Amino acid sequence: MGIEQTLMPSPESWLARARPDDPVFFFCPLRLAQVAERFQSGFPGLVTYAVKANPAPEMIDGLVAAGIRAFDVASPAEMALVREHCPDAVLHYHNPVRSEAEIAAGLAHRCTSWSVDRPGELEKLRCLPKGTEIAVRLKLPVKGAAYDFGAKFGAGPELAEALLRRVAELGFTPSLTFHPGTQCRTPAPWARYVRAAADVARAAGVTLHRLNVGGGFPSDRGEGHPDLEAIFATIETATRAAFATPPRLVCEPGRGLCAEAFLLVLRVKAVGDDAVFLNDGIYGGMAEWRDLGPMARLRVVTPEGLPRGGAARERIVFGPTCDSLDRLPESVALPEAIREGDYLVFEGMGAYSRALVTGFNGYGARRIVAMTSAC
Ligand SMILES: *Cc1c(COP(=O)(O)O)cnc(C)c1O
Repeated sequence: MGIEQTLMPSPESWLARARPDDPVFFFCPLRLAQVAERFQSGFPGLVTYAVKANPAPEMIDGLVAAGIRAFDVASPAEMALVREHCPDAVLHYHNPVRSEAEIAAGLAHRCTSWSVDRPGELEKLRCLPKGTEIAVRLKLPVKGAAYDFGAKFGAGPELAEALLRRVAELGFTPSLTFHPGTQCRTPAPWARYVRAAADVARAAGVTLHRLNVGGGFPSDRGEGHPDLEAIFATIETATRAAFATPPRLVCEPGRGLCAEAFLLVLRVKAVGDDAVFLNDGIYGGMAEWRDLGPMARLRVVTPEGLPRGGAARERIVFGPTCDSLDRLPESVALPEAIREGDYLVFEGMGAYSRALVTGFNGYGARRIVAMTSAC
């Protein structure tokens, strides 16, 4: 599927002309470049992109154009995708559980950093060339994220210490990595993790090559612009304070880098007394609503591309499939005057949206239109 380009000055002007009946993502390369610049000039270390958050080829191309050359990949398909768009990319293979065939793929794709969180998986990595960076994934019971990323992966401090020692013994380059949980609105979880990482390294008697502070950088879901700079500053200060020899820092944002770059536009299929039916829902671009709650950056637009204003009222919102679970978990305040054929424009929808579209019942947001101008 090739990308469509438009010279139209706004999503509204494109909608008024095209009147799409299917859901549409608008891709804003200028917004992507701004966020990438914010990370690259503000983060005190290497910025890598976690591909799973949005693997659209135009996202990878946009990041490469913005100067990102390092990527966190979790599967052979993600490795191939990045290599196709950026042949000289640095690949970090930070999915800590891998089949033998996946390890072979990681080697073939020249992945330079590998994470691990259990002894059996570390033994499987003994085939890697000596000196390869292996980052032990640390987990703590830390609050502050939209949901817990330690629930599946990560070794607690004691196991992390043993693994780190074993990594060094085997002749690999020892690092630590963690993920504080997605959509962390405050710097506190990073500060706690950095201190714990220093304790683990000290207890293991290992000098870390690098510390990877994960993803988890927040996007704006309606609470206001996240203060990324405060998070960067906390990470830097905490690292200097906690380590006698501070390791080099790496981050691997997914959401924080890609969310602003996409808008999602849905159409109203039908309006009932208390309910509105849309042409996409939780099996498509809004899959994350079940876990993260509603995206509040919403405006309603008439088919002519004009704002649909007036008083608002809460309504139940259903998606298009024939499954009764296909409704947004909370009601949404929509203009009293909303009509069939109107469009809902959601901002900040680049993360875990296109990536999670299932195609269930033949529906799902797939079309991507790139805006040449700012949007
Ligand atoms: C998903 C993931 C990320 C990105 O997380 P965000 O919360 O989207 O920033 C980074 N690193 C790893 C290992 C991941 O699995």
